[in-house]
Amino acid sequence: MQKHPVGISRPPQAACDDIGMTEATLEPYEIYAVKYAWRDATRNDHLIFKDPHDDPAMPMDYFVWAIVGKHKTYVLDSGFDREEGERCGRSFLRHPADGLRMIGVEAENIGDLIISHLHYDHIGTWDDFPKAKLYLQNAELQYAVGRQMRHHTLRHSFTFSHIEGVIRALYDDRVHFSEASEEIAPGLSLHHVGGHTVGLQVVRVWTRRGWMVMAVDASHYYMNFEEIQPYRTVNHVGDMLTAYGTMAKLADSPKHIIPGHDPLVMQRYPAASKETEGIVVRLDADPLY
Ligand SMILES: [Zn+2]
Repeated sequence: MQKHPVGISRPPQAACDDIGMTEATLEPYEIYAVKYAWRDATRNDHLIFKDPHDDPAMPMDYFVWAIVGKHKTYVLDSGFDREEGERCGRSFLRHPADGLRMIGVEAENIGDLIISHLHYDHIGTWDDFPKAKLYLQNAELQYAVGRQMRHHTLRHSFTFSHIEGVIRALYDDRVHFSEASEEIAPGLSLHHVGGHTVGLQVVRVWTRRGWMVMAVDASHYYMNFEEIQPYRTVNHVGDMLTAYGTMAKLADSPKHIIPGHDPLVMQRYPAASKETEGIVVRLDADPLY
């Protein structure tokens, strides 16, 4: 594994004399978004700086993602289960592992589970992945068990049993901690951004259409990074704003950034297959708009 320094700069594009050394040798990954829940909301529900004159409907989708390489499949986040969803008033559609199975990804066989951050909707069903190593930013676990959890405002998106489970995984040698930026496989790297939570990370992936960034909760919606509108659930607003710029540097274009909760993702990308219409979309395909 190769570690990058903090503040990774944009990797060089393959120039003629670079062929064979950079992107040209990378195997592209396929990326799938699996929708497992949703909730009704309006735009102002999501913003710090609200507009009382403009508050259209803006529901929220909940996803887990599969990053499928030629030799290995990574899963990004594990969502929540029905019980947790009902406790939080979410409309639960399917268990995340059942959604993944629709594209041939079996949770029990997955060896690598990337966890963007430890909120209830991203780590909830991690024990469906008994063989998986969890990839986490060092700062995120420190945050989830540290003094900032005195504040209900920050704590309410975490679920104690999930954090307990991650500590159990740590004691079972199943947690891989990253610091800042780290390439975990050729064409796949993790980047600490913070903001929404202290240890939030985004994932950069090499695909057939170039470098993509899975923003997860660094940008819940397209509007967050396109209009520079910080999301309401936040630990550090400045870091959240900086993350929009970091993602822009890491991705080949704004169309290569995938927000974490935006229903537009289901409209802009084609279904993975006829059977998965409205459930799974393929993100390494060209967006429809
Ligand atoms: Zn989330």
